[in-house]
Amino acid sequence: MSMFEGIPVDVGVIYEGERIRRKDMYVELGGPNIKEKFELTRVKKPEEVEDGKVSIIGSDIKDMEEGKSYPLGILIEVAGPKLEPELEGVIERRIHEYCNFIEGFMHLNQRYDIWLRLSKKSFQKGLNSFQYIGKVLHTLFKSELPIIEKMQVTFITDPEKVKELYNEALQIYEARDARARGLKDEEVDKFYGCVLCQSFAPTHVCVITPQRYSNCGAISWFDGRAAASIDPKGPVFPIEKGELLDPVKGEFSGVNETAKKRTLGEITKVWLYTAFGYPHTSCGCFEGVAFYIPEVDGFGIIHRGYKDIAVNGLPFSTLADSTAGGRQVDGFHGISIEYMRSPKFLQADGGWKRVVWIPKEVKERVKDFIPTELVGKIATEEDAKTIDELKAFLKERNHPIVEQWKEEVVAVEEAVPAEAVEEMAPGPIITAPTLPITAGGFKIILKDAKIYAKKVIIRQIKTEKSKKR
Ligand code: ZN
Repeated sequence: MSMFEGIPVDVGVIYEGERIRRKDMYVELGGPNIKEKFELTRVKKPEEVEDGKVSIIGSDIKDMEEGKSYPLGILIEVAGPKLEPELEGVIERRIHEYCNFIEGFMHLNQRYDIWLRLSKKSFQKGLNSFQYIGKVLHTLFKSELPIIEKMQVTFITDPEKVKELYNEALQIYEARDARARGLKDEEVDKFYGCVLCQSFAPTHVCVITPQRYSNCGAISWFDGRAAASIDPKGPVFPIEKGELLDPVKGEFSGVNETAKKRTLGEITKVWLYTAFGYPHTSCGCFEGVAFYIPEVDGFGIIHRGYKDIAVNGLPFSTLADSTAGGRQVDGFHGISIEYMRSPKFLQADGGWKRVVWIPKEVKERVKDFIPTELVGKIATEEDAKTIDELKAFLKERNHPIVEQWKEEVVAVEEAVPAEAVEEMAPGPIITAPTLPITAGGFKIILKDAKIYAKKVIIRQIKTEKSKKR
């Protein structure tokens, strides 16, 4: 491609979705081993931007040691008469896409969570400087988004400088998110869809509503609207809401149709405000996962940066694998941090009343959005490390979910006579949205279960609990 003259590797859409495994990587930038990393776009005055300039603060790639991880900040400053600060988030999100166009260069996630790898092969071909990457980004941004008149790119690898700018960036993200709060899903007639992640998750369409941020946490409804207007053929597009089919679960005919069309029929129904049934699909770049814990009938939440194992004994990576890939997995739900601040957060499942465990770090971040009476009732890793400890904590703090446990026990005990035999049950004998069965050491959970039987024999088992009554 002549557009990329002087770049030692190929650049093109075909490299999107290319994964670089640890054994094939030359260096890693950001990622789970590095605490401070970020990417940030700022709209500047024309005189503050030198078009085409690429700067490096700290070591360049060629000065880095093979196999190591380094901090990285990517700062993109743009200017243009039609550029508004509201477009910063939209331009910033494209860094992901355009970096992935570079052969042997992988970019994952967003904002404060970026994770990049350069392959050995591309390094050997001569891709040994951020100058090249900056040049490619400059070319792509300016050709794809003509609204950008001038653009300069700065790569920061100096750990002190990354740290300083990282803290600034966090405040900028927060201000952006805060600006987008307040508008309700009911107040708009269009949502926005994003297929930026389809290169990694082909059956994933992010549905972005005023009260449901993109999974990655980097695109608000306002960003979606801006993106669709400056680049109508781009990965972000409007979705007509259509008919409201279920206000509690969040089902809209327009969303269903779009999902069907954009996933080539793979996904036909999306319920926006629940993790059960037809939950919103999860790509791979979600900031956190809400996971169902059958033992307590509640949700745990884990975020990408959480290093320890969750209360159910699984680390983020395993929970993320169970969730990701553009599938709809009952009880596993990829979410953004900002969605936890939304009144629509898991609305159909009980919202925060259904959340039982969350790492302290995230709890602190979203605390002001958790109903006050619940804050002390939701466990963190400091309160519970196992399911048993969690159960004890929830009981002790009288978490609302405990009430549900009691109701189930009472309902069963009341419904069941000491011994009952029913011949030829005509309809389903059990219908339940969630039915856990324990047999032979396995826990089997049936969803939307309808069980038919020819004959049902129920015997009351005398337990400690029932003896006391
Ligand atoms: Zn994504």
